[in-house]
Amino acid sequence: MRVLIIEDDPAIAANLYDFLEARGHTVDAAADGVTGLHLAVTQRFDGILLDLGLPGMDGMTLARKLREAAHVDTPILMLTARDTLEDKLRGFEHGADDYLVKPFALKEVEARLVSLHKRHTGKTVSRTLNVGDLSLDPKTLSIRFAGSDVKLPPKCIRLLELLMSDPGRVFSRRELESEVWGDAQETSDTLRSHMHVLRRALTLAGGRDPIETVHGLGYRLIARGD
Ligand code: CA
Repeated sequence: MRVLIIEDDPAIAANLYDFLEARGHTVDAAADGVTGLHLAVTQRFDGILLDLGLPGMDGMTLARKLREAAHVDTPILMLTARDTLEDKLRGFEHGADDYLVKPFALKEVEARLVSLHKRHTGKTVSRTLNVGDLSLDPKTLSIRFAGSDVKLPPKCIRLLELLMSDPGRVFSRRELESEVWGDAQETSDTLRSHMHVLRRALTLAGGRDPIETVHGLGYRLIARGD
């Protein structure tokens, strides 16, 4: 894999660089946000390791610019020292695909990168899904709800796609996690964060939340045709 490390802490950056290179990956590194964004836009990478606190431009801003201004969809694994739910939610809203909280195990960094890359390249192309006034086109990733466009991070789109594939059916947390992230999830925090972002975006766009929490079981999509 070609990996870009954007991290200003020299010790962490060197650790990541040496480990990934020794594992056979091609690695590039930037120590500030502006250089990192420039590399991410001008060269092709299979995955980006992005620190949140960076000089010049912080990780959130970088991720947002990369997705919205440059339309680069390289998977982003955010590295954060701030273990708070709000920071994670902001990370996903700005285009991060996954996160790890420092300190992390180098082997886990690699496992997450490989897994993100596999899912990114293995995206299946299928038909447009329609459930009531909610539609999702898996090819263009355009989502419309109650007449409004909905912008979502990639993992939230995948969650919505799953729920829309069988409206009314309850999807268990385990099933959703396994479909979207593989079997490597240790906590339910990631799913909860993404579900929160997804439901907030849909509610903002359509004025109501079409997803229902079925307590103790999971989530389902409520079909409503008006
Ligand atoms: Ca930093």
